[in-house]
Amino acid sequence: MEIAIIGSGLAGLTAARHLTEAGHHVVVLDKGRRPGGRMATRELMGGGRADTGAQFFTVRSAALAESLGLWMEQGLVLEWCRGFTAPDGHPRYAVRGGMAELGAHLASGLDVRQSIRVDRVSRQAGRWRVTWGSGHAGPAGGIDADAVVVTSPVPQTATLLADGAEVPDLTYEATLSLVVSLDGPSSVPTPGGVQLAGDPVWSWVGDNLAKGTSHQPTVTLHSTSALAAARFDEDESTLLDSLRDAARPWLGEARITDAQVQRWRFATPVSPWPERCLEVTSGVILAGDAFGGPRVEGAYLSGAAAAEALS
Ligand SMILES: Cc1cc2nc3c(=O)[nH]c(=O)nc-3n(C[C@H](O)[C@H](O)[C@H](O)COP(=O)(O)OP(=O)(O)OC[C@H]3O[C@@H](n4cnc5c(N)ncnc54)[C@H](O)[C@@H]3O)c2cc1C
Repeated sequence: MEIAIIGSGLAGLTAARHLTEAGHHVVVLDKGRRPGGRMATRELMGGGRADTGAQFFTVRSAALAESLGLWMEQGLVLEWCRGFTAPDGHPRYAVRGGMAELGAHLASGLDVRQSIRVDRVSRQAGRWRVTWGSGHAGPAGGIDADAVVVTSPVPQTATLLADGAEVPDLTYEATLSLVVSLDGPSSVPTPGGVQLAGDPVWSWVGDNLAKGTSHQPTVTLHSTSALAAARFDEDESTLLDSLRDAARPWLGEARITDAQVQRWRFATPVSPWPERCLEVTSGVILAGDAFGGPRVEGAYLSGAAAAEALS
């Protein structure tokens, strides 16, 4: 079969690898510049790197454990720690050089086309036509497929599907992510991550140098969902100034050499769908963490389930 996959996040790339291994012809289309989706890493001035989305992942399923074994053998993934403020014995894994490296690794050897924002999936002559408008990567275009796996956030998916497919009404919480590079060590305690409950601004603080993402000191801070909901559309410089001030207690004596904000409108699905994927009309399957569960492992399992449904 010819299969189009929308989204080169972990769900889309996992589905793509499984379907390619099963002998299908697969094309992955993504609006972002690099594969990985919410497993995203930014480069900061001074050469530091920082994970802006997912910070680490955990592994409970045998399926992900098998892939993890390979990734660790290849030196791609490392065990970061076994808990933060109070260790609990459960491994937290990170990707060497940043979470986006896993996307790059999974995309290699596949037909993955970045900077393409799909705007329509419609039925044409018994097949599916996936189309996009012109953008900075090139002119408008389209491809035909026998089946489509859609891993974009579900509220956006609803606007892509023209032909009366019933897309469930799933909602997401937003997050604001602040990444800073420093000219000295941060004050984030060992092992370099703190999950905060009850803080008015932050839900997470992570030191990317301690994690193995960066060779320079950089820190990632994630806002609470309440703060993101209240301030999501605020202008860049006001937001950056106030988030930088709120980050100060975590930055020790170091001076900030670069600071950037990333706005994740669809950061976390609130009530994921009870099944790992959903065929909304014949040959169109929805997948992603809104189906498999709101984390890296959920996205992986959902992508695998979508591939299984088409095999
Ligand atoms: C701030 C933050 C912190 C997180 N922390 C953790 C953590 O520590 N541990 C953990 O396990 N999980 C964490 N997560 C969740 C984890 O990142 C996600 O569950 C997982 O990466 C989702 O993968 P996905 O493939 O389902 O979706 P995504 O990674 O979002 O992939 C969807 C892709 O679809 C593309 N797309 C959307 N619309 C279109 C379109 N119209 N045309 C083409 N492409 C399109 C997007 O560009 C994107 O690349 C975090 C998420 C965020 C945002």
